[in-house]
Amino acid sequence: MSVTTQLLELFRVDKQLRGLRSRLDAAERFLTQQSGLLGDMDKQKATLEAQVKQLRATIANDEGEAARIEARASTLREQMNSAKTAKEYNTFLSELNTLKEQKTAADEKVLESMTKVEEAEKKLTEIKGQHDERSKIAGTAKTDRDAKSAEIKDRLAELTAQRQLLTTAVPPRELKMLEDLIKSRGDEAMVAIEVLDRRAHEGSCSACMMAVPVEAVSALMSGKLVSCPSCRCILFIEEATFTKEKKTKDPSLAAAIKKQKKAKEAEKEEAAKT
Ligand SMILES: [Zn+2]
Repeated sequence: MSVTTQLLELFRVDKQLRGLRSRLDAAERFLTQQSGLLGDMDKQKATLEAQVKQLRATIANDEGEAARIEARASTLREQMNSAKTAKEYNTFLSELNTLKEQKTAADEKVLESMTKVEEAEKKLTEIKGQHDERSKIAGTAKTDRDAKSAEIKDRLAELTAQRQLLTTAVPPRELKMLEDLIKSRGDEAMVAIEVLDRRAHEGSCSACMMAVPVEAVSALMSGKLVSCPSCRCILFIEEATFTKEKKTKDPSLAAAIKKQKKAKEAEKEEAAKT
């Protein structure tokens, strides 16, 4: 078995693995995103709850202060009634006026805090509603992730074992080359060469559409590892190419493939324009 064939087997298993994982990855990403949003809401909720608690304590304090002032004022009023001299009376009156100001200030503080507490509670209700909604979405996301994970578990284990086995057979240098290419090019790490004329060793890379030199096609046909000189992907020859060639000696085949290639090129150009 040529190293190209070994790499191709590995590449195909790896492609299935990546495809399988990508479905789970999407579900995983969605779950992470939803959990993050839920976490933010938890924080907002906790902040608002602390705010409400703090405001309620302030209100209780100010109300206590207002009640204390009120009690002192009623004592003063009684004392004023039994004042013996005008000077005594005026002293009580002056203190009473100061107390009235203090009472007004305390009442205003209570009102202000009450407005704030109402606002905070309104926000809290909103957040709680949003939190419930988001909890449902996050719950569904988790169920979906778990289902996908369970669904692919066996196949994933199977392919992982298969990949491991194929990996051990490939020389380390070529293995690293393929793995680097998969990282940078994904599904285009290895692509088939389009053989236009097998006898003339004429072919092109089906990823970048550039012509591959005759020597490279010959090398590939003799089982050597060949990269596309333009895009650096590893080239291979589809088994179908051999069978097609064996089955038919029709010279129009090469022409047909050439035509197909041209159509593909036009398609690519068209795609590049839009
Ligand atoms: Zn190429």
